[in-house]
Parts: sequence; C-alpha cells; structure tokens
Amino acid sequence: MLAVEEALRRILATVQPLHSENVALPDALRRVLASDVHAAYDLPPFDNSSMDGFAVIAADIMMSSASNPVTLRVIEDIPAGKAPQLNVASGQAARIMTGAPMPIGADAVVPVEQTDQDRLSPEMPAQIKVLQGVKKGDYVRPVGEDVRRGELVLEKGRLLRPADLGVLAGLGVAQVEVMARPQVAVISNGDELVLPHEPLTPGKIRDMNSYIIPALITEAGGEPLLLGIAHDTAESVRAKLTEAITQGANLILSSAGVSVGAFDVVKTVLDEMGSVEFWKVNLRPGKPLTFGQIQGVCFLGLPGNPVSAMVTFDVFARAVIRKMLGLPVEMPTQTAKMGEAMTSDGRMTFARVRLVRENGDLVAYSTGNQSSGAISSMVKADGLLIIPEGVRDIQPGQRLSVRRFRAED
Ligand code: AMP
Ligand code: MG
Repeated sequence: MLAVEEALRRILATVQPLHSENVALPDALRRVLASDVHAAYDLPPFDNSSMDGFAVIAADIMMSSASNPVTLRVIEDIPAGKAPQLNVASGQAARIMTGAPMPIGADAVVPVEQTDQDRLSPEMPAQIKVLQGVKKGDYVRPVGEDVRRGELVLEKGRLLRPADLGVLAGLGVAQVEVMARPQVAVISNGDELVLPHEPLTPGKIRDMNSYIIPALITEAGGEPLLLGIAHDTAESVRAKLTEAITQGANLILSSAGVSVGAFDVVKTVLDEMGSVEFWKVNLRPGKPLTFGQIQGVCFLGLPGNPVSAMVTFDVFARAVIRKMLGLPVEMPTQTAKMGEAMTSDGRMTFARVRLVRENGDLVAYSTGNQSSGAISSMVKADGLLIIPEGVRDIQPGQRLSVRRFRAED
C-alpha cells in the first residue's frame, strides 16, 4: 500500500502556489505576505522626546544640581504633532511633550521631574531651574532608531501578526500584497446525513464533517465553499463536483463514499469527470483516502468517519492549502514520552493523545477509544501521536513525535 510520504509527494506535485492580491491593512491579519516589505521611511520619522520635559543643550546644564541649579529661559512650547518654530541657543530651553520633534540646537531632554516645575501647567513657564544634569542624547529617540529606511522589515511568506500590522501602518503601508486564500469546496456524501437542526429520523445521523472540515480549512488559511450534502447517487455527486468547478474551487474536499461499500459512488464519478490517481494509503485512521483531479483541480476524497476525515485533512489537505499559500508544508512536531503502552497495526498511525507535563517532560496518554468514528476521542485529544509505519508495540517511556493542536504552554 502507498506510504503516507509518497502519497503526499504525489499530491503536492500537482499543486502550485496561488496568485497574490492586495488587501486593506486591517484585513491582512493572519494572511501570508506575498512579497518582502522594505521600509520606505525611517521610524521614528524624526528625532523626538521620550519624556514630557524640556529640550536643552546638555552642555549648559552639565553641572546643575538641586543645591546649585542652572536657570534656563523657556522660548517655546512644542506639543506632540507640532513642528518647532525656534532654535534653542545656549541658556535656553523649549518645553516639549512626549513624541514631539526635537528643536534644532537642543541635544537632550530634561524630564519635568528633574526641574523645579511640579507638573506641566497649561501655561508655559518663563524660566525653569534644572535640578539634575542630563547627557547629550538623553530622553531623545533618534530618527530611524526603530526602523531604518530601506531595511527589510517583513519577509515574504510571513503569517501576519498584530505587531506586523503596526509596523506596516507606521511605515505608511495601507494596502498589503498577500497570497490569495485557496478556495476549498466542501462536500459531505451520504444518504444517512441530516443537518444539526433537522429531526433525526430512523437510520439518520447528523453531518459533522460539514462543520469540522470548513473550520479546519479556515484555520489553515483557506476559504471554504460550502456545497452541502450529496446523496449516494452518481447524479448527486456529479452535480456537486460540477458546482465546485463552476465556483472556481482550487481544491475539492469531499468526505465519505470512497470505501468499498455498494453505494460508494465518489470514485466512479471522479473517474468519469477526471482521474483517480490513488485511493488507498498506509495510514490509520484514513486508509481509504482518494486522490484525483478534475479539470486540473486537486480532489481529495476524505474518509467519512469524522476522525479519519480530520487526520487525513491534517496530513494531506493542510499541506495542499499551505503549498497554495506559499507556506512550508511540513508542520512542526514535538517529542513526547509515552505515559502508557500502545499498539498499532503496522500502518503509519496518528493516535489521539492527551498531553501532560510531568517533571519537565511532555507525556502522552491515549484518549481511550481510538475508533475512527469516535469524535469524543478527538475532542479530548491535545494532539496526534505519530507512530511510524512498521511499528506495532509502544512501551511506556518511549519517545515519539507528536503534532500538538495548540502551540501554547
Ligand atoms: P463511508 O465512507 O461513506 O462508508 O462512511 C464511513 C462512516 O462515516 C459511516 O459510518 C458514515 O455514516 C460516517 N460519516 C460519513 N459522513 C459523515 C459526516 N459528514 N458526518 C458524520 N459521519 C459521517
Ligand atoms: Mg457512505
């Protein structure tokens, strides 16, 4: 049977990074930057005060102290947002607020606390006594201290974070070039499926995959196109796949109907509309993963059991979405120590585990029922333990790779 790595290699060989698009800055959060951003300006854009106080010439007040204060004449008020009008000469000071531009001539700021002024009154004092000297450059934030003009600030391929939006705003970037979000069609197959708000008549179950898969797509950086439930007939499946193509899907994710059951028609329709590349991988859960193409669009037929659908999404669909976004496809793993014995059947296995910290080690325990139909075991899980192909017995204390769902703690 096809090994997971080989299956992934064959799938990824058929997809390419998508185009880029411009979005308004507030919409760029968690989007993938499509090109390097170099600073068009210095940050801060001018020398400015980091304190409320007085802009002075440091040499003037070198010797000042509480017992022997130096008196300076105050020549102007510089609030934030205003350009200084006068130059500071020896014996003079300008009252300055945090963030306001330094006046020409001054080379330091004396914080108000180091003068005889208790607090900054609305009226500008005519003169001040400096009770403590400052050195040249004190309390001044020089132009370009934070970011230099021309500097590479954000690299292509970066997943934009709140601070990144801040630096872009600071540099006057209002539109950001990001990778287009892959449009991912989602289809649930099965005559047994009804929606959560519908009555559960005999033999029916509620469609979980129509909720799980779009959520996973969104988390991975794609945009789900919800196509709803297809019946177990060739006509119904054909109609949904046609709709996916018409809507311009970059990837089609269908779940169920790909096993060897009498009504599993998905492979037949895929073969008729496009091509079936393979339909089995050496993976547990998730063996009946089907890969094909329809008019050049990647089709992944995920198994119907919600846990299998999630695992195959994690291993294959996420990688496809990430490649389309220009992101590295390999997901980070951590090493966990087994807290108990576990067994596998020799297929590459993704086991649902709880992860706890014990004496500095990340320790993995099974969430119990590992049936691929048991969604509760996924709800309880903190991650997926990766048991390599060929391994059947895991002993307590053994170390294995684990894919954590959340990176925190
Ligand atoms: P199948 O691949 O069609 O044989 O489905 C495998 C199992 O997954 C069956 O027990 C289905 O009822 C179940 N299943 C299929 N699709 C869904 C779904 N969307 N939500 C929950 N369970 C499903
Ligand atoms: Mg079915």
